[in-house]
Amino acid sequence: MAKYKLEYIWLDGYTPVPNLRSKTQVKEFDSFPSLEQLPIWGFDGSSTMQAEGRSSDCMLKPVSVHPDSTRRNGVLVMCEVMMPDGTTPHPTNTRATILDDPGAWFGFEQEYFLYQDGRPLGFPAEGYPAPQGPYYCGAGFKAVGDIARQIVEEHLDLCLDAGINHEGINAEVAKGQWEFQIFGKGSKRAADEVWVARYILNRLCEKYSIDVEYHCKPIRGDWNGSGMHANFSTDYLREKGGKTYFEALMAAFAENMEEHVAVYGPDNHLRLTGLHETQSIDKFTYGLADRGSSIRIPHSFVNNDYKGYLEDRRPNSQGDPYQIASRILKTISEVPTP
Ligand code: ADP
Ligand code: MN
Ligand code: MN
Ligand code: MN
Repeated sequence: MAKYKLEYIWLDGYTPVPNLRSKTQVKEFDSFPSLEQLPIWGFDGSSTMQAEGRSSDCMLKPVSVHPDSTRRNGVLVMCEVMMPDGTTPHPTNTRATILDDPGAWFGFEQEYFLYQDGRPLGFPAEGYPAPQGPYYCGAGFKAVGDIARQIVEEHLDLCLDAGINHEGINAEVAKGQWEFQIFGKGSKRAADEVWVARYILNRLCEKYSIDVEYHCKPIRGDWNGSGMHANFSTDYLREKGGKTYFEALMAAFAENMEEHVAVYGPDNHLRLTGLHETQSIDKFTYGLADRGSSIRIPHSFVNNDYKGYLEDRRPNSQGDPYQIASRILKTISEVPTP
């Protein structure tokens, strides 16, 4: 028997962007606990915008479990928030309502800025660093500074230790901006892993006195914003595909443009301007290898008779992957397969 530190993680009720919250409960197990062994737990919803003070209990239902290599016998437990009965989803629980399809695969590219003293890491106290250009996938102190790479490397290792399916990391176009990619089969799984990876990053940065800035356009002017491109495929798209189906799918995406943008993260009009590798927020376009379109079609897709995955470039860095994946699957479900 050993005492495990179970860190229960959940999303609070703040809008438009929920915060990650967590607290620890210590429990004894014979070995690393499975999801089924983890009890439902509670918290004070009146402190997280999820309940009134007079009836403040909310419930935490574990949905995924991960080793936490920063702590002895550490366990990260991603949770859904439930009503006091433990079975009814809380209104802030966006995960509970999503369409889940194990054949739907998602790759999320999470971009973010590291911030110190209210500005991106590496920005001088006054004015700006050298313009964008050398930073993307850059190496060397001038390009990426000193501490940033240590943080992103440590984050990658902690995520791999936690069983998060990280696929890669890179320095991004703006100074102080980075990206990690997470791939998952099933929308719930991919989205859970994005939230856990965000949580691990937030917590890691505490010890460096650095904040993670997830806002989609933290610096105005000629600096890239942060997105969370959603790459997606379904069984049908991977195995059958075809130009006719693809065009019907794109017509449905065009039809539902506003519904998509509504859940693609706040302040996206500041980022989706038609500049900096984006399409304008009020236009829907798709294009082969076109980073200025709403949906980019990889070369491999066309070369493979319109089979494979597509990249929706509109979701932003503060978006909720539960709602993003859910909306994409809803639109796909509206298109009959030939
Ligand atoms: P880029 O920066 O050029 O847009 P990345 O390599 O950062 O490309 O991201 C591509 C993403 O596409 C990865 O997250 C990967 O997991 C995802 N991806 C690859 N194949 C599929 C697929 N069949 N279904 C869904 N996502 C996929
Ligand atoms: Mn990328
Ligand atoms: Mn990117
Ligand atoms: Mn991309």
